[in-house]
Amino acid sequence: IILHEILASRLKRPELLQTCAHVVDSGLPVVDPASGAVLCRAPAVGAEAVRAAILVADRALLAWKKLGPAARSRLLHAYADLIAENVDDLAVIMTAEQGKPVPEAKGEVEHGLEYVRWYAEEARRVYGQEWRLDAGRRILVQKEALGVAAAITPWNFPCSTLLRKIAPALAAGCPVLVKPASQTPLSALALAALWQEAGGPAEVFQVLVGDAQEIGQVLTESPLVRGLSFTGSTEVGRLLMRASAATVKRLSLELGGHAPFIVFADADMDAALAGVLACKFRNSGQTCVSANRLLLQESIAEEFCARLVPAVSALKTGNGFDAGVDLGPLIDEAAMAKVERHVADALARGASLACGGGRLTVPGNADHFFAPTLLVQARPDMLVAREETFGPLLPVLTFRDEAEALRLANATIYGLAAYFYSRDVARVQRVAERLAFGMVGVNTGRMSAEATPFGGVKQSGFGREGGHFGIDEFLEIKTLHLGL
Ligand code: ADP
Repeated sequence: IILHEILASRLKRPELLQTCAHVVDSGLPVVDPASGAVLCRAPAVGAEAVRAAILVADRALLAWKKLGPAARSRLLHAYADLIAENVDDLAVIMTAEQGKPVPEAKGEVEHGLEYVRWYAEEARRVYGQEWRLDAGRRILVQKEALGVAAAITPWNFPCSTLLRKIAPALAAGCPVLVKPASQTPLSALALAALWQEAGGPAEVFQVLVGDAQEIGQVLTESPLVRGLSFTGSTEVGRLLMRASAATVKRLSLELGGHAPFIVFADADMDAALAGVLACKFRNSGQTCVSANRLLLQESIAEEFCARLVPAVSALKTGNGFDAGVDLGPLIDEAAMAKVERHVADALARGASLACGGGRLTVPGNADHFFAPTLLVQARPDMLVAREETFGPLLPVLTFRDEAEALRLANATIYGLAAYFYSRDVARVQRVAERLAFGMVGVNTGRMSAEATPFGGVKQSGFGREGGHFGIDEFLEIKTLHLGL
């Protein structure tokens, strides 16, 4: 691969990108969202190569299962160590293709490798059960690798979303085929190169770069692929669910979200302010668990906004490689256009801008930067209050009492993450119970950890990643009836 100066001048080990894709048919241009420069052409595959890759994975299944948990655990630990050694390069690759500031990219790699360590350990804790049913009958319940697994990953967290799928799959004994988002294939290719460097068999972790629809179709149609783990939009999730019906695949879907961030009058306001800033503007708001709506109790709304506006305005937007940048570019023009559409719709329906509101020029860079934006007097009928925004835009809605807050918060087809701040213990219990979301942050804006299950309810999907729950997605249960 010929690398653009942006990568070539920063990477300590450019060979990490010298491809390990199984078969290379053509090249997919990878663009730096900040500068607009083409970073390189990544090796891409077509349908035939994907079919070949599935066969390779299927042939590797038995040996990978039989290798046993202890050996797989050692490999995963070695892999985690290598990722740790290459954190700087992986962060550079991510910033170049995804845009987030380098320290944030580094944080993501470090977070991602904790999943590898976690599942290196979890590999050794796949337990079955045994009991006597009646005289002459004994039951053994065994857990077995599901089989060949596919993972389709998004561009917003190119490293951690990939690792939290492949680590439990590999730990469980499943060869895995990964189709990364076409915007961010380089992180995936580098992670696969490191897997092989750690001594991992190339056949059990293959990266398929190319046309999403074409690759998706081959993966979903194949009866050899037994499971599909997907992170992305609800729209594509529905499509993959439909396509997987023909071969009745095990599915794990982590789809869109529309997180409410509720601040009650009894909240610790300093903590809530810090919480909403981190939760909303990390990754420029391109996060499925980002606060998408700020719900403020009427009595504190004015004071809260008065303090939030200067904090939001002070955030620095720029190229992710520059020092002191809080917000990088949005991933592409379509993402910019969506945020603009949400702002225009809200203004037309009576909201007003408290700060930001449009594109920002960052000298020497492309037109991919959106000012961190606060909209006040937002209402539930606005697009921004219904659709996932995926950008640095926060609408503020107000509520009178707890019942109204819950009604507003739950009025969405999504059910991924919700947040609320309150110091009233009884309220904390009530509200946590009534929020129809898979994850609830109580007095915190942080949500993801390798030790905890991550996933949604309603149209945000099903299945859980992380913790000991995550490995179950890649295991089958087999019941043995023994006439003993
Ligand atoms: P986003 O809107 O955040 O880009 P998508 O759901 O479009 O989210 O993308 C998430 C992942 O799904 C990416 O890897 C993308 O390439 C992939 N994808 C998109 N469309 C399809 C499809 N029809 N079949 C399979 N994968 C797809």
